[in-house]
Amino acid sequence: MSLLKDFDQKHSAALGHELHRFARELYPICRSITGDGLRRTLAMIQDRIPVQLAELPTGTPVFDWTVPKEWNIHDAFIKPADGRRVADFQKSNLHVLNYSIPVHAKMLLHELKPHLFTIPEKPDWIPYRTSYYKEDWGFCLSHNQMLALEEGQYEVCIDSTLAPGHLTYGECYLPGRRTDEVLISCHACHPSLANDNLSGLTVATHLAQFLSGQDLHYSYRFLFIPGTIGAIAWLARNQSNAQRVRHGLVLTCIGDAGRFHYKKSRRGNAEIDRAVFDVLNHHTELPEFLEFSPYGYDERQYCSPGFNLPVGCLMRSVWGSFPEYHTSADNLDFIQPARLAESLRVCVAIFDVLENNRCYRNLNPYCEPQLGKRGLYRPTGGEAIRAELNARLWVLNLSDGEHTLLDIAERSLLPFSAIRDAADLLFQSGLVAVFSGEDKDTKTSPHSTSAAAIGAARRSRP
Ligand SMILES: [Zn+2]
Repeated sequence: MSLLKDFDQKHSAALGHELHRFARELYPICRSITGDGLRRTLAMIQDRIPVQLAELPTGTPVFDWTVPKEWNIHDAFIKPADGRRVADFQKSNLHVLNYSIPVHAKMLLHELKPHLFTIPEKPDWIPYRTSYYKEDWGFCLSHNQMLALEEGQYEVCIDSTLAPGHLTYGECYLPGRRTDEVLISCHACHPSLANDNLSGLTVATHLAQFLSGQDLHYSYRFLFIPGTIGAIAWLARNQSNAQRVRHGLVLTCIGDAGRFHYKKSRRGNAEIDRAVFDVLNHHTELPEFLEFSPYGYDERQYCSPGFNLPVGCLMRSVWGSFPEYHTSADNLDFIQPARLAESLRVCVAIFDVLENNRCYRNLNPYCEPQLGKRGLYRPTGGEAIRAELNARLWVLNLSDGEHTLLDIAERSLLPFSAIRDAADLLFQSGLVAVFSGEDKDTKTSPHSTSAAAIGAARRSRP
């Protein structure tokens, strides 16, 4: 089974627009680490894929943390004497310091100013600021808006609630043939921010949609969670199951025009790290690989020493490194349909590697088998054929039960997809058999579908 080939056959150029449309639907919602904005977001994901919701009451201990009070907001504004609304929550939910406690008061400008946040270097952008764990209130506005505020009295209103409630997260589980899992995690706690938040949510949702129609080797678990506290809460509730996670990816900032970046898992050379390395190097332009560091997104929690799960973080532009990060400029124009679609395809290609990474055994290990009499040796077929032949020879040579297809791809410097195609062909020709710790010497197909069925399916495709 090739996930990637199936993906390429099913999806057209319209896919990116579909992803972007979903981001546009989610964009106006005021999300936070708790509250109805997060619930509404999860409900919209539930319209597309089966998501189980978890609700943890305020005060629940989760490792060294405690589930905070629930925050909800209805309105907020600053009103000068002339009655117009400045920093109007109805125009942008970024105007409110996320998690602001309620306030309704009159005050002078100098009293208000300590509660205002701006970015002087980007005077037209609104910053995104939070105060989850310290009770505070504030407004974020463009620097130019602040400069226009005159001395005088202001009505200041934040119509919010911060009260005992719940922390919500969503989980979509797609069972495969094994209980070993691939974890895909993305944060769903930022308000109107597109790349940092919505790009991961939309790509993960579509990825789950695509995978749910597949016959999968691994089980897949998608987490749509508030950053940090959500990952900690999930790990606290799943401490004993977490070791089922064999591979994992945090998806974030994958809709912008930047090249791909991959932050390795704490292990540094896990199969997921190697699979991503293969796909980004062979399928994308100038990817960059970052060593693990204990700062970033929720890989921090998955890679904490008690868990040390093989979870890396896939991004385009790296958080904090692009000027639009955590500002109103990280908007729907900053993410592009084609980039979202390419990111989705890259994820499928990564899982295609994981799903198909097997060991084979050469059934003719004494010298090379004669490929010509099987129609597998075409020395005059040009460059592409030479590459295919090269892949076949590599697979035959290293199929000793010791090397996986990914090992062979790394050693031959050929893409995993080429090595996998060669292994499929050699398997169908009876030259190699699947070899694994669990089912030694088996001659069954590496995939659940038989080789004949694969052939028939390929022929029937347009
Ligand atoms: Zn962020």
